[in-house]
Amino acid sequence: MRKKKIIYVISLLLLVICSMFAYYTLKKPPEVAKAAEDRYRRGHNIPGKLYWAGSAQDKEVALTFDDGPEEVWTPKVLDILKQKNVKATFFIIGKQAQKYPEMLRQINADGHIIGNHTFGHVDLTKLDAQQVDQEIEKCALIIHDIIGKTPRLVRPPFGFHNPDVDNVVYSKGKIIVLWSLDTEDWTALPPVGLTAAI
Ligand SMILES: [Zn+2]
Repeated sequence: MRKKKIIYVISLLLLVICSMFAYYTLKKPPEVAKAAEDRYRRGHNIPGKLYWAGSAQDKEVALTFDDGPEEVWTPKVLDILKQKNVKATFFIIGKQAQKYPEMLRQINADGHIIGNHTFGHVDLTKLDAQQVDQEIEKCALIIHDIIGKTPRLVRPPFGFHNPDVDNVVYSKGKIIVLWSLDTEDWTALPPVGLTAAI
């Protein structure tokens, strides 16, 4: 009888431990879960309007960096790109550009492409058309004030977009650029080699 009780208690304990483990490993913040979900909804390129990736035939990659400029990582990334003689696209947050205009000038001076990543890095699908327009235009104006160029490429924050957001972007003659491979460095995982990431 006692033995049965002990087995029962041990099983119960194991069950609790397993449930806790599953809860903490599987639980993801809503943005991460939404971003993960979004990866499975990848569509096809819409020529001249929306791109997920370049041609699968060409052995080329396009590197893109989001959320800058800032003063810790942007200079490091720029140094490596210069060393390797590689050009990339930087999707700029307007608010960040206001804070670090010199860094934006440096990105531009190094010959990289500048893209628009909205003013405040908000989920555009939560806004109405006018607010979406403001987020994009405000960022565009700030960038123009600093480097005299208006970006044509737009990357919606978190990759969250819908037909309403897309139409606002298209109506301005701008192009949406998403991605086909996410390094997920933003999840603060330990660094991995590119081969491992693919
Ligand atoms: Zn971003």
